[in-house]
Amino acid sequence: MIHCEFCKIVRGNSSAEILYDNLHAIAILDINPIHYGHILVIPKTHCATFLEVPEEELSDLICATKIVSRAMVDSLNPPGFNIFSNNGRAAGQSVFHFHFHVTPRYDDDNIQFVLKLKKYGEGEMTNYGERIRRHINTNLDCSIL
Ligand code: 5GP
Ligand code: ZN
Repeated sequence: MIHCEFCKIVRGNSSAEILYDNLHAIAILDINPIHYGHILVIPKTHCATFLEVPEEELSDLICATKIVSRAMVDSLNPPGFNIFSNNGRAAGQSVFHFHFHVTPRYDDDNIQFVLKLKKYGEGEMTNYGERIRRHINTNLDCSIL
């Protein structure tokens, strides 16, 4: 059996501050929050990244994310919040069981996702669009999601 901290939490074999669960997802407080009230929403099925989340479980996962986001905003009253996920080591993922982060944000909290924005050269945007669209069309034809 794979060693996975989030699977242990899902199965009740490891403790967590559980906020909510439904058939396919569980929401807990992050043990090392960006801000207090930082939530993780986790599919109950083990899957490494968003791409492996079974299609029939997506709506429970997204609904759980909305329910806890609403509750976090209503209870803690942050002026903003982020929903994000890191997929793959290169993207900063450290626990390889997919999860959404939901975290409160405050004015001048000095948390920055440092982005170095690029500009497309002539024709490059169309080129990238075509490359990605081709796979969307192929995947839809083959019913691969
Ligand atoms: P990632 O780096 O994969 O996007 O996010 C993993 C998150 O899981 C981190 O924010 C980390 O603090 C949190 N985390 C790691 N292990 C545990 C744990 O055992 N319990 C809880 N509640 N959070 C954890
Ligand atoms: Zn797992």
